[in-house]
Amino acid sequence: MTETRLTGVAASDGVAVGKAFVHTPGELAPDRDRIEKGSEKTELARFDEAVAAVVRKLTATAEHLTATGSGKEAEIFEAHVEFAEDPELRDGVEERVKSLGSPESAVLAVGGEFAAMISAMDDEYMAARADDVRDVASQIAAELIGCSAAGLEALDKPSVVLARSLAPSDTARIPKGMALGFVTSEGSKTSHVSIMARSMGVPAVVGVGDALEASLGAETVAIDGTEGFAVADPDPETISDFEAKSEEIADEKSSLEKFKNVEGRTKDGRRIEISANLGSAKEAADAIEYGAEGVGLFRTEFLFMERDELPTEDEQFEVYKEAVEAFGERPVIFRTLDVGGDKDLPGVEQPKEENPFLGWRGIRMCLDVPELFKPQLRALLRAAAFGNAKVMFPMVADVSEVVAAKKVMAECRSELEREAIRFGDIEVGVMVETPAAAVCAADIAPEVSFFSVGTNDLVQYTLAADRGNEKLERLQSADHPSVLRLIGMTCEAAKEAGIWVGVCGEAAGEPGLIEKLVALGVTELSMSAPRIPRAKKVVSEV
Ligand code: PEP
Ligand code: MG
Repeated sequence: MTETRLTGVAASDGVAVGKAFVHTPGELAPDRDRIEKGSEKTELARFDEAVAAVVRKLTATAEHLTATGSGKEAEIFEAHVEFAEDPELRDGVEERVKSLGSPESAVLAVGGEFAAMISAMDDEYMAARADDVRDVASQIAAELIGCSAAGLEALDKPSVVLARSLAPSDTARIPKGMALGFVTSEGSKTSHVSIMARSMGVPAVVGVGDALEASLGAETVAIDGTEGFAVADPDPETISDFEAKSEEIADEKSSLEKFKNVEGRTKDGRRIEISANLGSAKEAADAIEYGAEGVGLFRTEFLFMERDELPTEDEQFEVYKEAVEAFGERPVIFRTLDVGGDKDLPGVEQPKEENPFLGWRGIRMCLDVPELFKPQLRALLRAAAFGNAKVMFPMVADVSEVVAAKKVMAECRSELEREAIRFGDIEVGVMVETPAAAVCAADIAPEVSFFSVGTNDLVQYTLAADRGNEKLERLQSADHPSVLRLIGMTCEAAKEAGIWVGVCGEAAGEPGLIEKLVALGVTELSMSAPRIPRAKKVVSEV
């Protein structure tokens, strides 16, 4: 096997070498429909092996679910086993293989026929089974093709994940410690897969383009997220280069250890708070371990996206309370629900939009759907009784939205008071991630206690460059005069109003940008937790 090099965007630092796990949601495309005459027997044996492998995985999942008290879910997998072993499926495939069809296209076709037959039945329950049948057929086909069609939640060995793209809900499903790194054909530095990789502390190379297709069959992948390349099926020499790099990185990491527990402060004594961006309360302990002085951005949407229904007020309260309690006196800034754009919300009907990033998202959606917004604000107010909680609104474009959101908040306060439910004080801030908010910062500042600049979106809206488009990498940096000037305007307006400015976009953790942000007047930098020690070191040299 010769190695193949894939070049892309260096999206999350570090190196890793590991088993490849191909995530292929949706349609599978077998690369051959026909087989050679005389190979029928061998191909059928391959099919039987693939079925056995899929059955092993399904049985293991069912057993795990039963053992952990999820008997109902286990039944689904047991039914999948039955279908995988169904003699009619085997007969259908055998017939097609004998007429020289490839077993992978045969199983997809037979599975498709069965599914069509089932969904034509006048029985709602059976119709719903059609998807299960398709799912099992594609798992068998994936096994034959040499990639796994299983969901990322099934990842049970530490692996490098290869995918066309990964939604936040995909990465959120990966069991802890199972992703060694990510290689995607789409995406940029501020795509959510990159952000997730940085907060998980694993390397990522994104935007490698169509070249990834040819490497989907790789067994092993080496990934260098600092330089921005990956190697499919690396030869021994490459592997030893990676091992050497990995040692260097470990040495650097240990030299940064001592910065974990120092306060963020410039050489001339200016206090700069170095905080973490979190996607769940579970990440709090790790963030504190890295030296987080608080949470500058708690992305609440992950709590909504990892399930099929909206979380209740009480469920939200428990999560927010857990986060503030973990941080004690240190602040935890919760960003209210920011869905739309590249983040879908199960449980809320979202219109198909021509330009989702310019669409009904963030505060725009929350103000229109009080049944979504109010339980969240009530849960946050209640959590504020247990720690130092703050709240900020995303995607604000003008002061009227801030006034409207604060009004809903006041209503929630009165309701809780009437209902005699305990709640606490909560400071309100606004994310500056539209150029409009930066330009109008002087109008917004008197209404709030702080600004937090979301450079990921601010860059894409200022430079009219989609944050997920790998072809626009040149334009995807906060180190652009237009963006820096907007941050400068925000800081000036804040100073005038006597409030502080933080940055919670990815620029906050970029060593090369920290000095500029501090010079502009930013006093809080919030980033993926693993970047904290280095950021503290950089700040100490400013
Ligand atoms: C941002 O836009 O910079 C930000 C922090 O929010 P998100 O990346 O979640 O859109
Ligand atoms: Mg944003």
